Amino acid sequence: MAFTSHMSVALEEARAAAARGEVPVGAVVLSPEGAVLARAGNRTRELDDPSAHAEMLAIRAACAALGAERLTGCDLYVTLEPCAMCAGVIAHARLARVYFGAADPKSGGTLHGARVFSHPQSHHRPEIYDGIDAAACEALLKDFFADRR
Ligand SMILES: [Zn+2]
Repeated sequence: MAFTSHMSVALEEARAAAARGEVPVGAVVLSPEGAVLARAGNRTRELDDPSAHAEMLAIRAACAALGAERLTGCDLYVTLEPCAMCAGVIAHARLARVYFGAADPKSGGTLHGARVFSHPQSHHRPEIYDGIDAAACEALLKDFFADRR
């Protein structure tokens, strides 16, 4: 099966988040067959919820769509490296693969910081692919924060 990136969908969600005044991060969850189960952008400000990261919302919605507490065999695309909180949920959800765009040396918890999946206490370690459309993902974040100054 040829590899098809779904980062463009995550980028659309990130742009929509920016338009709402949220940090522009977007995520999409795909079924093992490659169908979009859920897509979401950050809504921490709108929901007054520090856990309303794009990945969290997409994972919750995908689980609700499947009526399951796990997303075994599913893939996650997210425009920014998942933080430690999201990485923990990714492990609990048993996602098979994580594709992310921009690296996050400051707040990331996947390849930086806590490196959640590298600990023996992590119940599950998805395959990680970084740098997917990284330039576009980074540009969105950079523009957003430049406008705030
Ligand atoms: Zn997060």
